[in-house]
Amino acid sequence: MNVQTEIRPASPVSSEHFDVVIAGAGISGIGAAYHLTTQCPGTTFVALETQQTFGGTWSTHRYPGIRSDSDLHTFGYRFKPWTSAPIASAAEILKYMGEVIEENDLGRHIRYRHTITSAKWSSEHNLWTIDAVRTDTGETLCFTTNFFWMCQGYYRHTEGYTPAWTDMARFKGPIVHPQKWPEDLDYRNKRVVVIGSGATAATLIPAMAEDCAHITMLQRSPTYFRTGRNAIEIAETLRQLQIDERWIHEITRRKILFDQDAFTRKTFEEPEAAKTDLLSAVEAYLGQDYDIVTHFTPKYRPWRQRIAFIPDGDLFQGIKSGKASVVTDEIDRFTEKGILLKSGNELEADIIVTATGFHLSANGDIEFAVDGRKLDFADTVTYRGMMFTGVPNLVWVFGYFRASWTLRVDLVADFVCRLLTHMKQTGATKVTPRLRPEDHNMPLLPWIDPENFNPGYMMRGMHLLPKRGDKPEWQHNQDYWAEKDEFPKIDLKDKAFVYG
Ligand SMILES: Cc1cc2nc3c(=O)[nH]c(=O)nc-3n(C[C@H](O)[C@H](O)[C@H](O)COP(=O)(O)OP(=O)(O)OC[C@H]3O[C@@H](n4cnc5c(N)ncnc54)[C@H](O)[C@@H]3O)c2cc1C
Repeated sequence: MNVQTEIRPASPVSSEHFDVVIAGAGISGIGAAYHLTTQCPGTTFVALETQQTFGGTWSTHRYPGIRSDSDLHTFGYRFKPWTSAPIASAAEILKYMGEVIEENDLGRHIRYRHTITSAKWSSEHNLWTIDAVRTDTGETLCFTTNFFWMCQGYYRHTEGYTPAWTDMARFKGPIVHPQKWPEDLDYRNKRVVVIGSGATAATLIPAMAEDCAHITMLQRSPTYFRTGRNAIEIAETLRQLQIDERWIHEITRRKILFDQDAFTRKTFEEPEAAKTDLLSAVEAYLGQDYDIVTHFTPKYRPWRQRIAFIPDGDLFQGIKSGKASVVTDEIDRFTEKGILLKSGNELEADIIVTATGFHLSANGDIEFAVDGRKLDFADTVTYRGMMFTGVPNLVWVFGYFRASWTLRVDLVADFVCRLLTHMKQTGATKVTPRLRPEDHNMPLLPWIDPENFNPGYMMRGMHLLPKRGDKPEWQHNQDYWAEKDEFPKIDLKDKAFVYG
């Protein structure tokens, strides 16, 4: 596979050719670019990004207080130490990603304002033809590539998800979704109602509480939260001992992952004990008189939905101070003055924020075809949550729910680089996952078992996602601790990979 720009017969117009095309320049796309340059030197590639800058999630979301809910030792890459407090603002994450780009000269591989609209595989040429529209000029550009690395995330960046409630138009004030936060929104001394109680609501509320007249978190049902100091003790100790930051990063990652593994196991093996741990931490902030049963005790087992981390209990401190409050009720309809609840109470507001999640998008809204046939990912079976039966030379990065997304970015990258090297060594130009004879009677199930993990956006969008089987090869098991050992051992000669 060589560096070149050329005319390809697969495309009707002039096209540029790269060995690999990466979709997106978020944490996954930048990670893919880094690993290609270091593990597959000489490979030509381009990352096409629709936005005008890198960062993905951390650039799209600009609501007050936007921060990670994972620690940055594990949300950061394994190859670049994180040296600040573990929970980081979007600005700090963008700075870190900017340094990765700068230090590794990745900028020359990224093309901003390029929206990929279609990707068509041709078995005649063993190439993907990728069309991208420039958002600044409207021009359509054509690329061909041997390998398509999908790092476009899992949700639609252009708009968030807002349910259609009755009479929304009657409300006189602004209704804002955090994914499209208006820069000039003035909430000083205003009454704000935030609908939702996920990580976004839990971030927004403490960030806004000081300035609002009052801020209310309106939730249909409660969410679990973890809380604690925004610091990792072992990292602090090692820093005091003047240990090299690269060691601190690795040791801290291992300690965090060890503790997370123990907690995750506990949620499955002793769910009641795990629940007690989480609720006692909330009670320590809010006191015994606060109605924790109504407002902070979910009906589901811990970890069936993402557990947001609340650094230094800031959400609870806002509630304790009286600047913020929680209402657990259902929306009947919107009114001119606010929201009428099913209980009959009316919540008055000047501004309503709908922290109600996003639209799942499995394919970056790209139109896919394989040999002239439209590709619906829901008709495929996933190979370990990253490749798809019948879809040649394509990998998708889908991270973890119960651990940092980026852990999987690094693992998938190691796999892709090993696969590309193997293909180069064996002269293969095409690899397609296919069910093996022993897999043919395997039950085909939804992407994830709702008993295991069931947030709203997954439940709304499950029909769009590929199927999973009941064997480790044919599912995204969401288990970093197993995958970190299994991925390096994946046998590239397994019958699940058909080469051409
Ligand atoms: C508010 C918020 C907070 C989160 N916090 C955490 C956290 O603390 N820890 C954690 O592990 N996970 C978190 N997540 C999940 C988070 O999305 C991932 O961790 C991670 O940032 C995803 O990175 P990514 O690069 O795969 O995708 P994204 O960040 O979604 O980036 C994808 C990029 O691809 C681009 N793109 C998409 N389609 C196209 C196309 N057709 N053509 C060209 N470009 C395209 C997008 O513009 C975007 O820049 C959070 C998610 C949200 C929404």
